[in-house]
Amino acid sequence: MGTARVNHDLNDHLNTTMNPLDPDEFRRQGHLIVDFLADYYQNVEKYPVRSQVEPGYLRKCLPKIAPYEPEPIETILQDVQKDIIPGLTHWQSPNFFAHFQCNASIAGFVGEMLSTGFNVVGFNWISSPAATELESIVMDWLGKLLNLPTSFLFSGGGGGVLQGTTCEAMLCTLTAARDQMLNKIGRENMGKLVVYESDQTHFSLQKAAKIAGINPSNIRSLMTTKSTAFGLSPDSLRSAIQSDIKSGLIPLFFCATIGTTSSNAVDPLGPLCDVAKDYNIWVHIDAAYAGSAFICSEFHYFLHGIDGANSFSLNAHKWFLTTLDCCCLWLKDPSALIKALSTDPEILKNEASDSNQVVDYKDWQIALSRRFRAMKIWFVLRSYGVSNLRKFIRGHVKMAKHFEGLIAMDKRFEVVVPRNFAMVCFRVSPLMVANANQKLLGEEDANEFNSKLLESINAAGRVYMTHAVVGGVYVIRLAVGATLTDYCHVNKAWKEIQEHAHTMQS
Ligand SMILES: *Cc1c(COP(=O)(O)O)cnc(C)c1O
Repeated sequence: MGTARVNHDLNDHLNTTMNPLDPDEFRRQGHLIVDFLADYYQNVEKYPVRSQVEPGYLRKCLPKIAPYEPEPIETILQDVQKDIIPGLTHWQSPNFFAHFQCNASIAGFVGEMLSTGFNVVGFNWISSPAATELESIVMDWLGKLLNLPTSFLFSGGGGGVLQGTTCEAMLCTLTAARDQMLNKIGRENMGKLVVYESDQTHFSLQKAAKIAGINPSNIRSLMTTKSTAFGLSPDSLRSAIQSDIKSGLIPLFFCATIGTTSSNAVDPLGPLCDVAKDYNIWVHIDAAYAGSAFICSEFHYFLHGIDGANSFSLNAHKWFLTTLDCCCLWLKDPSALIKALSTDPEILKNEASDSNQVVDYKDWQIALSRRFRAMKIWFVLRSYGVSNLRKFIRGHVKMAKHFEGLIAMDKRFEVVVPRNFAMVCFRVSPLMVANANQKLLGEEDANEFNSKLLESINAAGRVYMTHAVVGGVYVIRLAVGATLTDYCHVNKAWKEIQEHAHTMQS
């Protein structure tokens, strides 16, 4: 009886029950999804940009338990349309100007399809040599395009790796710096290590420092001011370091930013790296958003002094047409990272790794398993070519300049911080708010007015922007960069902003 039953199951397994990789069904369903997405992109402007659902909406739509019997793809897709799409904020809408954009593209998408389709796990070279080698090659390609010093490239003794996100890249580099230092000075000094950032640095550094075990009271968030356009002054870095040394602490790590999230501020790399060098501090450069712009030479002056840094990262999924997730990290000395993160378990032993002639990317990241992300970048670079990628970036910068021009023509509004790249931080000026209220009011009232204005615009659903507070001032951020955005969308956003401001003032 037992044998007969087993045979029956074996026959059944892939034929009559289901075959999750049946080629014909794969083709059919794959085409359905591509058609579904093509329709989505065609109609994306019809949906409110920011989702308008209430918290918990989906529980009311879906059954309490998972289905026992299989359901056809057509039924599932109907529910995607009916239940899921209303709960999406449409990041690919051309009217999305919030946060920083997250570029989708055909090349990114088909590269992702291949990567997912092959579904290889390239943790070391032998686990899929092409995944590792393509990654090293595209990281050198991209590094050269960005004008990074050769010391950051494999061809110059450094190297690059694809991570999921900037948070991971920061944690990995901080860990590399930490272990390099502790190996020199002894583990017992862990509590003395100090990390430096500015008050504009992305919160991912704070998170990385927490995970890396940095004493929470040893994170120096140095103040920036409007007078330096919210870039960090080298003097304040130096004096913070000197005061820590006086207290018996050990300066470890400094994160500089090119293109801060709040206002696109740029820290002056050269002078800051000079300070860091005097104290032997690891410098990481976070260019998560703005980094992609360095394929255009007119932005290279921001990189002046980068030779003094130890690592550099950018998110290709923000402004480089490479779908989420794809953070590019380069290091001058990958061995510091590898020493901190490598493991050498028996089950992964192989000749190639032992020969020391290959890269085993599991030693360059947190996780063991990893996706074939290089496929996406390779497709993006080849499908569009550097020439079009440059046009893409420059197009957004020009649209942001155009938006600045529109603001300049309306005296009710003002640009709050100088524009770098393709984001404009603006507000209704306090003077106008005061006039509207028939009395003289302070900054706080302006902040409240602008915050209400933004909510009113976003609630209407035709455009979506987000805010920041810089130097105590509430600013509305218009980040131009969605793949589908064109001048008509920027103009429409401006009209929408003016109309809401007008309604609120009258
Ligand atoms: C977006 C952003 C980050 C965070 O990126 P993740 O990939 O989401 O971790 C960090 N720094 C800057 C400057 C950013 O713009």
